[in-house]
Amino acid sequence: MTRTGTSTVEAVYEEVVRRNPAEREFHQAVREVLDSLGPVLERHPEHAELKTVQRLCEPERQVVFRVVWQDDRGEVQVNRGFRVEFNSALGPYKGGLRFHPSVYLGIVKFLGFEQVFKNALTGMPIGGGKGGSDFDPKGRSEAEVMRFCQAFMTELYRHLGEHTDVPAGDTGVGAREIGYLFGQYKRITNRYESGVLTGKGVSWGGARVRTEATGYGAAFFASEMLAARGTSLEGRRVVVSGSGNVALYAVQKATQLGATVVACSDSGGYVVDESGLDLEVLQRVKEVERGRLTDYAERVRSARHVVGGSVWDVPCEVAIPSATQNELDEAAAARLVRNGCVAVSEGANMPSTPGALEVFRAAGTAFGPGKAANAGGVATSALEMQQNASRDSWTFEHTEARLEQIMKDVHARCAEAAEEYGSPGDLVVGANVAGFLRVADAMRAHGLV
Ligand code: GLU
Repeated sequence: MTRTGTSTVEAVYEEVVRRNPAEREFHQAVREVLDSLGPVLERHPEHAELKTVQRLCEPERQVVFRVVWQDDRGEVQVNRGFRVEFNSALGPYKGGLRFHPSVYLGIVKFLGFEQVFKNALTGMPIGGGKGGSDFDPKGRSEAEVMRFCQAFMTELYRHLGEHTDVPAGDTGVGAREIGYLFGQYKRITNRYESGVLTGKGVSWGGARVRTEATGYGAAFFASEMLAARGTSLEGRRVVVSGSGNVALYAVQKATQLGATVVACSDSGGYVVDESGLDLEVLQRVKEVERGRLTDYAERVRSARHVVGGSVWDVPCEVAIPSATQNELDEAAAARLVRNGCVAVSEGANMPSTPGALEVFRAAGTAFGPGKAANAGGVATSALEMQQNASRDSWTFEHTEARLEQIMKDVHARCAEAAEEYGSPGDLVVGANVAGFLRVADAMRAHGLV
């Protein structure tokens, strides 16, 4: 039987669903990539022969482990830890750790799979991996978070190394957690191995701009998409969902680029401020006090807090979804389009559902998929590794200039691949194809491993 690209990807998808039952988010992430690869396999039949796509869908290694710790009352807690080492064709496994009660293998695999393509798109020498735990940091004391991180690293350390696997943060894991994880790694291994984790504090091996990088990158990417259409962020009405690390710095950079960010959200609802969000207050409430948006609304007179509902009801020209996967569905996408939204830059990983994607495609909305638009975080992690390897520390300005150039390059790679493979302007196809080709080429060079 001669296999066309399309029949190959269909067979691969069926096999992925069969071997990874009930991992809905992983299926979704694979489906989206496979839908872009038909024309690539037609043009590169060697990858069908080498089963490159099948190999890409099977993680190189999956570690699942028990994490036992004691809470402040002395009660024993049992959590589950994960590290999925997806692909090391381009460099050591690289990707964040997520601590959230929703974490299970299907979430970690979807994130790890996306990470492989994202990291390839940055042009940096990093493979893809992801990890985390179903631990819920919400309401936990400092001491509990520290004990959990220590227990987690007591197993994970044996799988890590600056040339092997280099985790960083994701939802629920920020500078505080990276500090505790690094401390425990150092204690167990007796090595000051700076390059084993990224997102470290600047005073002990961290890179300037890493904290800001994902959000800044998503704003730069929005600006790049608009520039390709002959316009800019200047004077635009922007809505950012979420109010975590990605959202905060997307708000900041979009504002610096001349936009007015009128709304952001958390799990309790959203705030609207027609005069533009006050970043200083937002940072104090979310980063220092670890508080809620209701606290923000109490302090900022011009802000209005809406309980529940959807932040996508707020009319805007540019949307930067920066909360979590599948937060923006078909109905929300239709509302955004109706309200005049012309560009969507995904700060989170896979925040738009497949239905939403179709709506944006049909409407001709400029759409930057997470694996391209939020690549600034991991790219700056690679810059952190570079500084660690040379025992150097760069200035904020230099690092930010590097980040901006990387985001321009990511956009150009996606746009070129989309054009070359018959879907001009479709950055979803472009990101998948360009990411695939870079990883696939290295995999071919390394032989059947
Ligand atoms: N968790 C982030 C992401 O989704 C960053 C990973 C990293 O810096 O390694 O890309």
